[in-house]
Amino acid sequence: MTTADRHRTKRQGVTLGGEAIHDELDERAAEVADRVVAWRHRLHRSPELSNREVNTARLVADHLRSLGLDEVRTGIAGHGVVGVLRGGAAGERVVALRADMDALPVQDLCGADFASDVVDADYPGGPFPVSHACGHDCHTAALLGAATVLAGVRDRLPGTVLFVFQPAEEGPPVTEEGGARAMIEAGAFADPVPTMAFGLHVTPYPKGYVGYRIGNQYGASALVRIVVTGKQTHGSTPWEGIDPMPAVGAVLTGIGQLYRQVSAFAPVTVSIGHVEDVGRFNIVGQTVTLWGTVRCAVESDMAQVEQRLTVLAEHSAAAFGATATVEYLQPVPPVHNSGPWVEAGLPTLRRVAGGERVLETGATLGYDDVSEFVSRFGGLYVMLGVQDATLDESGRPVPEPGGRGLVTNHNPHFYADDGTLVTGVRLHAHVAYDHLTGALVPREGD
Ligand SMILES: [Zn+2]
Ligand SMILES: [Zn+2]
Repeated sequence: MTTADRHRTKRQGVTLGGEAIHDELDERAAEVADRVVAWRHRLHRSPELSNREVNTARLVADHLRSLGLDEVRTGIAGHGVVGVLRGGAAGERVVALRADMDALPVQDLCGADFASDVVDADYPGGPFPVSHACGHDCHTAALLGAATVLAGVRDRLPGTVLFVFQPAEEGPPVTEEGGARAMIEAGAFADPVPTMAFGLHVTPYPKGYVGYRIGNQYGASALVRIVVTGKQTHGSTPWEGIDPMPAVGAVLTGIGQLYRQVSAFAPVTVSIGHVEDVGRFNIVGQTVTLWGTVRCAVESDMAQVEQRLTVLAEHSAAAFGATATVEYLQPVPPVHNSGPWVEAGLPTLRRVAGGERVLETGATLGYDDVSEFVSRFGGLYVMLGVQDATLDESGRPVPEPGGRGLVTNHNPHFYADDGTLVTGVRLHAHVAYDHLTGALVPREGD
C-alpha cells in the first residue's frame, strides 16, 4: 500500500493496516496530553483510599460517558468502572486495559504544587493522611487519555476495548472485599471475555523507559494477621495472668529463621509492619495482634512459608502458656509475563518508547493484583519510568545530577514526572490496537 493509498483509505474510514493508524494514535495522544496532566493533578490533589474511590470513579465514568462509549458500567466491586468500546471494523478480539485508582495512607511530601493535604478521618484504623504515593493517579489519567484516543478511531478498531478502572489495588480494609479478584467475581469480564489484559506501573526508572520481565515480575503476596492471646492481669502480678508479650517476642525472633527453612535461591520475605497491643504500663493486656505481609518469588513456596509461620506462632505462644491464631488474607498471585506474550509485545513497546528505552528489568517482591487479570486472560504488564534518573554501566537506575532523585513507590516523597504520562497513553493505545489487529498475540501452541 502506498502512502497515497493509505491516505485514501483513511479518508474512506476503512480499516487500515500498518503505520498510518499508529501515527494517528500518536497525534491524538499528543492532542490529549494536556488534559491527561490536568486529570492527574486533579486526582493527585484529591486521593481516595482503597474502596473509597467515590469521586475518582465519578470523574472516570463522566469522561467515559462523554466519549460516547457503548457501555459505561459503574459500581463494580465497590467503585470499579468498566467502559466498553466496540470497534466498527470486523474482529473478535477483546483487550482489557487496566488502571488502578486508589491511594495510600501516606503523607504527601512529593513537593509538587498539586500535592495532597487530604486526611481520611473515617477509614478503619485512621485518621490517615492520604496521597497517591504509588502513582495510581498517573495510571488513571493515562487510561482516560487512551480512552479518548481510541474512541477517536473507533470506526477502525477491529474488536472491543474494555477500559478497566480498578478500585482497592492496595488492599481494602480487612473486613471488606475489593480489588481485581472482586471485579472478576462480580462478573465484570463475563461478556465480552478479554483475550488480553494489559497493565502498567509507574516506577523509579529513567523517564520514558519501559521495563519488562519474562517470568515473574512481582511475587505472590498475602496479608498475615496473628493474634496472640493470654490472660489479662495487673502489671504487678504477672503470675496471676498470662502475658502474651514474651510470646510475641519469640514469634518476631523466630520469623528471622523462616528464611533458612526454604530454598535461598527463591527469595521470601515475612515482615511484621504493625503490632497492636491492648495493655498499658500497669496492665498486662489480653491480646497482641501482629499485622504483616508474606511475599514469595515463587508462588508454590507460599503454602510452605505460611504453614511454617503458623507452626512457629502457635508453638511459640504455647511455650509461654498463650495461644495464637494465624490467618492469611488478601492473597494475590504473582504478576507473570509469559515468554510468548513478551515476544509478541516487544515490537509494540519498542515502537512506543524507542528501542533503546525498552529494557529487561529484575524481579521484585512487590505485588500488583493486575495478576488476576493477566493470569486469567493472558497479556502483559510493564513498568514505566517516571523519575529523574539515568542508567549506570550495569543498567541500574541512578539519580540524574540536579534532578529530584530516585524515590520508591509508597515513600512520602514519591513523585512522577508529568511529561511521561503521554507515553502511558500511547502504550495503552498501541497495545490495544495491535492486539485487536492480531499483530500482538502469542504464537500458536505457546
Ligand atoms: Zn502500591
Ligand atoms: Zn501501585
